[in-house]
Amino acid sequence: MKVSPDLTNDSRAKRRVSILGATGSIGCNTLDLVRNQSDLFTIEALTGNKNVDLLISQAKEFNPKLAVIGDDALFGELKDGLSGTDIAAASGQTALLEAADVDSDIVIAGIVGVAGLAPTLKAAQRGAIVALANKECLVCAGDFFLDEIERSGATLLPIDSEHNAIFQVFDFEQSENVDHLTLTASGGPFRNASLTEMSAVTPEQAVAHPNWDMGAKISVDSATMMNKGLELIEAFYLFPVEEKQIEILIHPQSVIHSMVSYKDGSVLAQLGTPDMRTPISYALAWPDRMETPGRQLDLAQIGKLTFEAPDLERFPALTLARDTLKAGGSLPTILNAANEVAVRCFLEERIGFLDITRVTADVLDRTPNSEPNTLDEICHCDEAARVLAEEMVSALI
Ligand code: NAD
Ligand code: MG
Repeated sequence: MKVSPDLTNDSRAKRRVSILGATGSIGCNTLDLVRNQSDLFTIEALTGNKNVDLLISQAKEFNPKLAVIGDDALFGELKDGLSGTDIAAASGQTALLEAADVDSDIVIAGIVGVAGLAPTLKAAQRGAIVALANKECLVCAGDFFLDEIERSGATLLPIDSEHNAIFQVFDFEQSENVDHLTLTASGGPFRNASLTEMSAVTPEQAVAHPNWDMGAKISVDSATMMNKGLELIEAFYLFPVEEKQIEILIHPQSVIHSMVSYKDGSVLAQLGTPDMRTPISYALAWPDRMETPGRQLDLAQIGKLTFEAPDLERFPALTLARDTLKAGGSLPTILNAANEVAVRCFLEERIGFLDITRVTADVLDRTPNSEPNTLDEICHCDEAARVLAEEMVSALI
């Protein structure tokens, strides 16, 4: 592997930033950092999907060259909203790729789900610094994505908090001396809930994460713990370790964001308040650091950090993801696609909370493993798994 630790850019110049998924939680946090340090950054391109009002107001504030809305039906509104400015407006899939292709130093990959794969790949292919929040694109197309990063000479910086933590303390010069990685997990809102209680939870309860304020999909993934399963696969691709060297540990306070254990017995961790602006800032300022408006960590006030092993019976998504990673081939793509469909159906109140992992497991059971090598083949596996997941959902209703 895997994460490239070198950066050729002149870190003294104003860094040019593009944000894919500007209207989401990662996007808004990034813009908050840029707003606070506008002498360090310019914004070159912004994209959203449906929240056209927010995209217009962001574009007017940050003055990018291009603003793109994913949903074609909203193009007229975007164009009208930006009339009288120099900002080009566009919509649709091709325009999202154009936004990723706008000349900028760093691209924040903050689109949720596999919808982010093609635009993030585009940014990678032109050799940008890719600050990756969109874990689904690594889960779905890990080897292919990393090959493209390597081929183009792009720099990949993880901003998922756990992976950013590991990146900060991983010694790439002597990875053979790493014993294992520990991904910490808050345990989500149902850490102590019984299966009976979980069977009745509503979307509103599932998106109410105890520590982090995030988009709906990742919040539900945190509640099922599929998020940690996806992060296990993400860590496997980002760092030069094997699957069996990646552990998952429940740490309800979300203060230790992850750890690297070395063979000499040393454990290096990164700590901080649960605030995504810290890992995002680490990528924005890389290889320097920058000030963020977040609170400093106050351990005396927190008093106690606790840990427990994850309960694999109540959170079967963890085993599902690990088995999928072990088997490899197309299974991670299928896992991700089926989970995306199941989470959407849960948010639409078509299936129950426990059905999310059930549907995902059923789709995996019914799909033979294969070895997709091209983007087309990966997209084909993704599509087929989505169709099957919809069928499984219909069968449940
Ligand atoms: P979000 O739902 O708040 O925002 C998603 C963004 O993607 C929005 O701008 C939305 O307009 C855009 N989008 C959605 N569907 C799209 C489509 N089909 N085409 C184009 N754009 C589309 O999500 P988020 O919480 O910001 O998460 C974004 C990504 O970052 C996810 O992959 C998530 O796993 C990862 N992540 C998020 C956090 C967090 O704190 N929010 C932490 C770690 C990792
Ligand atoms: Mg995370």
